[in-house]
Order: sequence, then structure tokens, then C-alpha cells
Amino acid sequence: MGYLNNIKHLEDADKKYVWHPFTQMKGWIEEKPIIIAEGRDCFVKDAYGKWYLDGVSSIWVSIHGHRKKEIDNAIKEQLDKIAHSTILGLANIPSIKLAERLINLTDKSFAGLSPKLSKVFYSDNGSTAVEVALKMAFQYWIRKRVNGKHSFLSLKNAYHGDTIGAVSVGGIDIFHDVFRPLLFKTSKAPSPYCYRCEFGKTPLECSFACLKELKNILEKHSRKIAALIIEPVVQAAGGMIVWPEGYLKGVRELCNKYNVLLIADEVATGFGRTGRMFACEHENVIPDIMCLSKGITNGYMPLAATITTDEVYNAFLGEFKDLKTFFHGHSYTGNPLACAAAIAFIDVFEKEETLKNIQPKIALLEDRLKEIADLPNVGDVRNKGLIAGIELVKNKSTKEPYPWEEKMGWKVACKAREEGVLIRPLGNVVVIMPPLSISIENLNRLMDVIKEAIIAVTNN
Ligand SMILES: *Cc1c(COP(=O)(O)O)cnc(C)c1O
Repeated sequence: MGYLNNIKHLEDADKKYVWHPFTQMKGWIEEKPIIIAEGRDCFVKDAYGKWYLDGVSSIWVSIHGHRKKEIDNAIKEQLDKIAHSTILGLANIPSIKLAERLINLTDKSFAGLSPKLSKVFYSDNGSTAVEVALKMAFQYWIRKRVNGKHSFLSLKNAYHGDTIGAVSVGGIDIFHDVFRPLLFKTSKAPSPYCYRCEFGKTPLECSFACLKELKNILEKHSRKIAALIIEPVVQAAGGMIVWPEGYLKGVRELCNKYNVLLIADEVATGFGRTGRMFACEHENVIPDIMCLSKGITNGYMPLAATITTDEVYNAFLGEFKDLKTFFHGHSYTGNPLACAAAIAFIDVFEKEETLKNIQPKIALLEDRLKEIADLPNVGDVRNKGLIAGIELVKNKSTKEPYPWEEKMGWKVACKAREEGVLIRPLGNVVVIMPPLSISIENLNRLMDVIKEAIIAVTNN
């Protein structure tokens, strides 16, 4: 048996050499890893040949599923031309074509709204897309000769990535607290997390207490705030927290009123996940800066785009000696293979009418979630489009959570694995994030397995 076919060797070598992200390695090395070897459509196959339904889209990136012929071919064709050429001081063909496509997409999504999104700045992952947005917003005010806007406003339960700037605007204590001494100071506004409303109100009687608090913060501090960064409509890594209708619109109005830029981090929500191309569309809101990554290449290549307006871009224009340049870039910025994959991804999205085709799946998901909501240890179910979270609780009437060290979300995921379904929880929240191309039949299977796994685990 050849080296690569020796699965036992691979398992040992993984434990010996690989440090996995967001993973307590002590636990990891005591268990048998699942090593993925292949994928097709909504399924992935492990090294032993067992197939699993990919219920997390390989961590939220796969939209059209694995081994999509058109995207495979686009990369192969580009590979025959050139794999990488920088866009520092040069241009390359796929990055130009993709920028035009992205702006056309935003034009279509935000038709009639202003300011128009018009410029694309590339990087290679969601965190860097956010870093770029923060640095752009910060420097924008300096270029505009508005003094003192040196800080940012973000929301509790926010997740914007793992680089230091992105962590600074993060709001998930378990991940972020240890780094506090390293981070720049930000203001934190309440998360519109209705199930656990920090004002103790219910959505019908609250009259947006969270927005009022946001307004108070802006009233006091807006002179120091460059931008508000949000994950529009769904705070994803914070637990698939779905915002009440009207909140996003309120956020945009407050940013206008207090002269603060709005950064929409659509890294998780972009490209159809919420049922619209971009989540901001749900409330006819256009951001000043938008961050895209994850789905942008269908999970084929690392790529991100930070898209902004002429207003922001023009503030950086000046003579060479004026040093108004946006001094930021990465080695792989505008990578041709990644951009070629993204163009093919958008082609498929349009050709297969992905947005139209997911509507019946969203309806099915919502029906199936209603059944799950009735289970005794399910406190809340929430979804926007094909993103859903099921929050498990120890006590349904008091909403008492399971202690996080009980790993209830993980227990459900492990049970589902036995049944051939891969999901990855966020604490006590069971996450449903399938490729948008999932069939009705497979979506039903996913929901059957998740429901049975929740029943099995919570009954023990
Ligand atoms: C995943 C995510 C990021 C970070 O993206 P990476 O590619 O993992 O760096 C940023 N923002 C949001 C909303 C995300 O979901």
C-alpha cells in the first residue's frame, strides 16, 4: 500500500503534525479523525470510503456543492494560462473581469439606492476583507480632514474573523476575551438577540430598545467613531442570531444621522444564503463598505473582496507625494485562479437561477424547523433563508442554557455523524448551513437526522 493510501499513517501524521483551528488538541488526539478525501455535490467521502451529507457547506463556503463541473473547468483553463500574477503594479485578466461582475451584481441588488458601490479591493479571506474595510474607513476620515474618528462601533455577539483588527470588533467573549489587552478599543452596542433580549423584552413590546441604545452610544461618541460594522440580518458565528425586521434599516438611518460609515460584513450571508443575493437587500439598505468572501469561489480558492463607493475611493486620490495612497495589500491579492473560480461561480449562480430555486427549500426548512421547535429541550429555532440555528436549552421555560462544557451541540453533531451527516455546532446552537444546491430529498434527510440526533442526545 502506497504512502498516501495508508490511512493509519495519515491519522497518526495528522495528530503528530497538524494543529487544527478552534480545536482543543488534547481531545482531538484522543479521537479518530475523519479525513476527507473526496467530494461530490452535497456529499463528502472520507478516506475509508464512507459518504457524508455536507450539512455545513464545508464551513459555509460551498454554495453549488463540490466538484462543480463549470468551476473545475474554469480553474483548469486558467491554469493553462497563468496560476498567479500580482496586481501590485500590474493587472491581470480574471481580477478585472470579476470586479466588473461584482459591481454589476451589487448594482442589480441595490438598484435605486445610493451611494452606489463601485470599487473592488481584493484580499484572500474574510478576516482580511474586514481588516481592509476597517483601515479604509479609518483612513477615509483622515483624508476628509475630519479629526478624531479613531474608533469603531460593533455589536455584542459579533464575529468578523480572527486577525487582530477583526477580533477587536468581535463580540464573542469565549473566543475574544483572552486577546483583550492586544486589541484596539471599540464601543459595543447590544445584539438584537430577541430570544435572549438583554432588556428583558419581547419583540412585540420592545419598540427596539436595542436600537435606542445604539442611538445613545452614537449620540455620545459618534465624533470618535469611524464606522459601525455589522453582520447584516444574521449574526452567524455568534449563534445564527436572526435580527428582527426593521433593525437593519434603523442601523442605516442612525449611521446617516450621526455621520458614521456602515460596514456590512456579508462574508457569511452573501451570495444567496439568506434568500437574497446580499442580506442587506432584505431591508433595502446599502452599506458604504461591503465585505465578501466564503461563498465567493464556491469554496474552491481563498478569495475576498471589500467593495466600496466612489465617495470613499475618491478621498484617497491625490498626488504621489501627498501619501494619500491606501497602503495595504497581500501577496495573493487578485489571484487569477481564485478570480477565475469566482467568475465561474457567479455564472453558475445566474445560469441555474440559484436564488429562485432555493425558495421552496427555504419553505421546507421552515416547516421542518417548526417540528423541531416543539421538542422539550429546544428553546429557539431561527432562520433566514437557508441559514438556521436550533438553540438547545436545559430548561425550556426558564431558557436556562446547558453549561457549555457539557458540549450538547457537539453531542448532537457526533450523533448525526454516525448517521452520515456532517454538521458543526456553535456552542448550544445546532447549525444548519447546507449548500444552496441541496435537493429537497437531501434537505429532508438532513432535517430527519438532526431531529433524531437532538431527541437522542437530549433524552439522555
Ligand atoms: C467566517 C467569517 C469571517 C472570517 O472569514 P475567514 O475567511 O475565516 O477569515 C468574517 N466575518 C464573518 C461574518 C464570517 O462569518
